[in-house]
Amino acid sequence: MDAIKLRPHHLLCIRGFKGKGYSESFVENFREVMRRLEQNPAIEIVDGGDEICKACPHFKNEKCLKSENSEDKVRELDGMVISKLKLSIGMKMSYQEVSNLVEKIPKSELPEICGRCEWIEYCTK
Ligand code: SF4
Repeated sequence: MDAIKLRPHHLLCIRGFKGKGYSESFVENFREVMRRLEQNPAIEIVDGGDEICKACPHFKNEKCLKSENSEDKVRELDGMVISKLKLSIGMKMSYQEVSNLVEKIPKSELPEICGRCEWIEYCTK
């Protein structure tokens, strides 16, 4: 099975995913990624757009165009997660290893990392 390519901050999003998203096709693709993750495949940490972004209505020309400066903001968020979890781009880990790392971040720290993400309430419950 090919490694599932995920950008760093989506490692937090997959923990908090509650079936919400930017469009029906976005949610369906996210569910498909989650189904694949249940088989504990390798995850490859990538720079920029990933397998979740590819179905996002805000992903255009390989950039996050959700709002003004969103490309810069999501890259900043990716950088924070890289540093928090001591990751590097190109690194491969099993989903279980990723989950173990992410579980070490208390939900109370998420607002500091994720800022004003509109989905934060689902992740901090
Ligand atoms: S909002 Fe931006 S970072 Fe999030 S999935 Fe869409 S394109 Fe990717």
